[in-house]
Amino acid sequence: MKATFRLGRIAGLEIGIHYTWLLAFALITWTLAEGFYPSSFPGWSKATYWGLGAVSSIFLFASVLVHEMAHSLVARSKGMEVEGITLFIFGGVSSLSTEARSAGDEFAIAIVGPLTSIVLGLAFGGAYLAVSGQNSPVTALTAYLSLVNFMLGFFNLLPGFPLDGGRVLRAAIWGTTKSFYKATRIATTGGRMVAFLFIAWGVLQVLSGNILPGLWIAFIGWFLHNAADSSRQETLVQEALRGVRVSEVMDQHPDTINPALAVDVLVREFFLQRGKRALPVHENGHLVGIISITDVKGVAQGDWPLTRVAQIMTSSPLRSVTPETDVAEALRMLAEHNLNQLLVITGDVTVGIISRENIIRYIQLMSDQGVSRRPGALARRG
Ligand SMILES: [Zn+2]
Repeated sequence: MKATFRLGRIAGLEIGIHYTWLLAFALITWTLAEGFYPSSFPGWSKATYWGLGAVSSIFLFASVLVHEMAHSLVARSKGMEVEGITLFIFGGVSSLSTEARSAGDEFAIAIVGPLTSIVLGLAFGGAYLAVSGQNSPVTALTAYLSLVNFMLGFFNLLPGFPLDGGRVLRAAIWGTTKSFYKATRIATTGGRMVAFLFIAWGVLQVLSGNILPGLWIAFIGWFLHNAADSSRQETLVQEALRGVRVSEVMDQHPDTINPALAVDVLVREFFLQRGKRALPVHENGHLVGIISITDVKGVAQGDWPLTRVAQIMTSSPLRSVTPETDVAEALRMLAEHNLNQLLVITGDVTVGIISRENIIRYIQLMSDQGVSRRPGALARRG
């Protein structure tokens, strides 16, 4: 998540705050100071309510942080890389670099968050009982924190991906059917349903006059819907590419060029006339590098006739795959190294180029044709 400021590190986890968190902080403080506290604990000064509101908001976000840390620490104990935690308007997210390796791991990572919140709810509930006779701001604070932690725990258990409950559901289906893709499809459908219920509930609240809480609920629904949709699409892309080899998708027999070629000729004849975006560079039949439009952009146009391909090409590291590599693996490499294309080589001979455009075109073609046209691929899916 961009536009975050760093808060520091806790237990080796980078903690950041997204600027939208400030909006949530203000809104929650306000609704507590003007609504919840005066109506539940009447008779205190305005300053007390506002101070208590602000302290409560901070504790609420600390509670969210503890919830996320539970996810992150369990994920790390399962051997996953955790980049950090970001707090934002709707709560917190842990940035995990990969998906869980097994249904059991995913289950443990997902369930620990809500359980942590419920334990916090119980702890604050116990504290509340201990001080409930005093009718002081501490009584009010412990009551509120007990309530919100229970809400956090139970809300996150709703069976809609990407909520924790949806991940638990996915882990359960994944464990039973052994199909990660099927499990993701079902869990993200659950996510969409939960999201629509939230939107409908929010709209009803707005219509009955509770404008701000209604909008808030509807926005949470909208956010959940987007998150469920993007996870679903990502999974469908992985599924569409499953078992597909680079040789089925790549540009075959790409033109190769000589390192001594002048850049102006390269641009005119290959990039402009033939619409190429990248070319393998061969010398005496051997692969020596790759040149792309991005490499040329670094050279002033006036210098093109005097510059040779050898001067600006990428010669190491040369990222490449073989025709037998899975396209999904090629896509991962493109993303990991932030590249637009990879060379497809056999020995040190270039047999093709695979680019992001090739892969996107392939996915579009497959989804236009419908899966029924590829019974072989369908049978391979779990
Ligand atoms: Zn969670």
